[in-house]
Amino acid sequence: MRIAVLGGAGFIGSNFVRYLASHRSMDLMVYDKLTYAGRYENIADLVEKGRVLFVRGDIANEELLSHALAEFKPDFIVNFAAETHVDRSINDPSPFIKTNVLGVYTVLEVLKKTDSIYIHISTDEVYGDLWGDGEASEDWPLNPSSPYSASKAAGDLLIKSYGRTYGIRYRILRPCNNYGPYQHPEKLIPRTIIRLLNGKPAVIYGDGSQVRDWIHVEDTCRAIEMVMQRGGDSEVYNICANQYASIREIVSLLVSHLGRDPLRDIVYGRPRPGEDRRYAMKCDKIKGLGWSPTIGIGEGLKKTIEWYLSNEWWWRPLVDERYVLSDSPWSMGG
Ligand code: NAD
Repeated sequence: MRIAVLGGAGFIGSNFVRYLASHRSMDLMVYDKLTYAGRYENIADLVEKGRVLFVRGDIANEELLSHALAEFKPDFIVNFAAETHVDRSINDPSPFIKTNVLGVYTVLEVLKKTDSIYIHISTDEVYGDLWGDGEASEDWPLNPSSPYSASKAAGDLLIKSYGRTYGIRYRILRPCNNYGPYQHPEKLIPRTIIRLLNGKPAVIYGDGSQVRDWIHVEDTCRAIEMVMQRGGDSEVYNICANQYASIREIVSLLVSHLGRDPLRDIVYGRPRPGEDRRYAMKCDKIKGLGWSPTIGIGEGLKKTIEWYLSNEWWWRPLVDERYVLSDSPWSMGG
């Protein structure tokens, strides 16, 4: 089995490559632009051992991508490559359109010339706000709220159209909020841990009552593998843990785990513009393939804190003023 992993130097992508490299004897290639979010260090040991072939490239570069895939001849192409941070998409949507829309379009054009099965990593954010106790199934209308989620929804729709029109073989996965090792410090859980370790209070945008479903990245990796093994072509699969918690609950758990005082060590910043109140999905479809999540939120957060405590070398160079240390990272004027 030969697997090309686009965006395999980022958070979920590198966890997925590490997971496959440790569990299976597959041939693996990572193709990644190494933006500010992608780090060669995340997979360097595997490349140096000859376990993974690494190509630095942009998914929107048709010539290079086409050449790399024609040489490697993958059975599956798993695409994690994306601009992913909502705060950044508020400040400047243009890289999100270039990678998440034009980049996906380029991948699809290249796919026309291959027999590979395309596994696309989308997001629960494409469904937008879920009110009351509603849970989105895979055929729920797409109703994105941020430039990030709109660009991801556009990618999903393009893929469906290429499946229908050109017969491309694809499977779309929509995971909920992931956390775990190698996640960039700009994202909520690492940012909170790192701010507390740097003597700064944790910051919550708005009142923190926004609800998310939290999944450990190892469970997501197993879900992706399951869809590769048992999923159907032209199908969409939600990946969720049904472990709902508000941002305030997550931040409070982290503050307590790190021995800080929730009353003193949490501050409330400006609400994030356009932020969704609640994401929630039904996951019966992927559970029907035989997958279910295994890592509870308490255990998962503890493991994640331990990883950040032991790997300061990894996160220290990524701590920036705007997206990690600032209480209000976006500017509405751009
Ligand atoms: P990340 O930001 O950590 O990593 C993205 C990777 O893509 C980086 O290695 C980056 O260098 C690479 N990349 C960006 N633009 C590229 C381009 N034009 N060409 C080639 N490589 C490029 O992201 P992540 O959190 O690991 O997310 C991976 C995927 O999962 C994304 O598609 C995201 O939308 C989706 N997702 C993430 C979450 C989450 O909670 N992290 C939840 C649901 C869905």
